[in-house]
Amino acid sequence: MQNSPLRFRYMEGYSDYYPERTGGLPNGRSIEPDLFDGNLLGPELANLNPAYIPVPSGQVVFSADYKWLNLVLVNVKGAALALETYDRWIKATAQGKKPLTMGQSLAGALRAGLLQAGVPVWLNTPLVDLRIDAGRVTGVLVTRNGTQTLIKAKYGVVVASGGFEHNDGMRDQYQQQPIGTDWTLGAASNTGDGIEAGLTAGAEVALMDDSWWGPVIPLPDEPYFCLAEHTPPRQHHRQPARGALRERSRALRRRSPRHVPEERRGAGHPRLDGHRPELPEPLPLQGSRADPAVPGRLVRQRPLVKSSTIAGLAAKMGVPASALRSTINRFNGFAATGKDLDFKRGDSAYDHYYTDPAVIPNSCLAPLWLPPFYAFKIVPGDLGTKGGLVTDAKARVLSPAGAVIPGLYAAGNASSAVMGRSYAGAGATIGPAMTFGYIAANHIADNR
Ligand SMILES: Cc1cc2nc3c(=O)[nH]c(=O)nc-3n(C[C@H](O)[C@H](O)[C@H](O)COP(=O)(O)OP(=O)(O)OC[C@H]3O[C@@H](n4cnc5c(N)ncnc54)[C@H](O)[C@@H]3O)c2cc1C
Repeated sequence: MQNSPLRFRYMEGYSDYYPERTGGLPNGRSIEPDLFDGNLLGPELANLNPAYIPVPSGQVVFSADYKWLNLVLVNVKGAALALETYDRWIKATAQGKKPLTMGQSLAGALRAGLLQAGVPVWLNTPLVDLRIDAGRVTGVLVTRNGTQTLIKAKYGVVVASGGFEHNDGMRDQYQQQPIGTDWTLGAASNTGDGIEAGLTAGAEVALMDDSWWGPVIPLPDEPYFCLAEHTPPRQHHRQPARGALRERSRALRRRSPRHVPEERRGAGHPRLDGHRPELPEPLPLQGSRADPAVPGRLVRQRPLVKSSTIAGLAAKMGVPASALRSTINRFNGFAATGKDLDFKRGDSAYDHYYTDPAVIPNSCLAPLWLPPFYAFKIVPGDLGTKGGLVTDAKARVLSPAGAVIPGLYAAGNASSAVMGRSYAGAGATIGPAMTFGYIAANHIADNR
């Protein structure tokens, strides 16, 4: 923080993932990166990846804004906040800034810190293997400009090359089928190279069967991560199609083998319990009319089936109409009483975060009654894998016998997650990755 322009802001109202547990805060404690001026990166700005959710030009949007922007049509605060996002942009650009927020702000501001400190960064220089001399890691073999090059490391090497989410072979070897590399949102370059190099150096690995799971809708270009699985955005009792779209997936899931365990394990990022569902394949969306209530990417890339009747929808989904109808009737009963006896939606303060408070008695449960009805397939995807090299409290990599491998450190998804099998709260992946990278660097510096 002292050595970079990275600054954070409080995300007021973004509930803890376990707000009902001892010490939990329904109003949240999360922070997110504050606005960062991309100009500080100079030509390096061109190397910054685009945002996962592109912010429309002319607006400055923080994560905390999405709750209200989703309600822009039905809530005064949503409309006011939308105006504020334009106002922020006008002010920032009037000051000559290139405003960046969210992940781009985090990565950009840290990169600016390295620039200011004069730390060289070699891009497109993948690790090939670790150099080991007499049991100590003394360098890395990399490929640079098509040539293998040895970089000597007198004091230590920190492996921070992410997980193995895009390595089919490792997925097959360590994780439960069916699973593939097209259900993940992790960086395409994360193929587990650092973990494999650590294994060759004699490291222990753990949690390799696990990932930062979450419900995902497969799309041709990139999976669509249903961040707010328990608290879907766009909940509108005045625009039932949105509710229908969302709730249909739940109806579908309820009919299927267990998809997400009922107890909340990280709320928005519920950990899946390994019973991977055999969901019916939906047919392509019939007709060409783009329904404005359905998120654009889902319409354009057509993972949806749609019908004006429940029976028609069931036919397209390939499920018995009577079963789908009784599922919906049961769900509508929960919506009327406000008590979800199947999935407990709305029992936690977190569940209500993205919902429309005007939906009563439970803002997580909007009844399904007005056509058209939609269905789409949800699969157990992830944000990346969480198994990797076992480390100690100093981020030093350990052998199966628990001995420190001299000179070798690991952080982030290349290491076995300190969170274990939980997703304890917002930042449970990035937070430890940054913290243990910092611990590793300090340990190396202190032991020179
Ligand atoms: C859409 C999305 C939203 C997310 N939101 C959040 C959030 O709000 N909070 C949170 O805590 N987490 C979030 N996550 C998860 C989080 O981004 C990751 O878990 C985290 O970035 C992992 O950090 P890492 O440093 O281990 O790996 P990464 O950030 O994936 O970085 C690994 C880097 O290593 C590079 N690499 C790979 N192989 C090699 C090689 N052989 N040689 C050299 N370099 C290599 C890759 O190119 C990559 O740049 C989100 C993830 C996604 C996809």
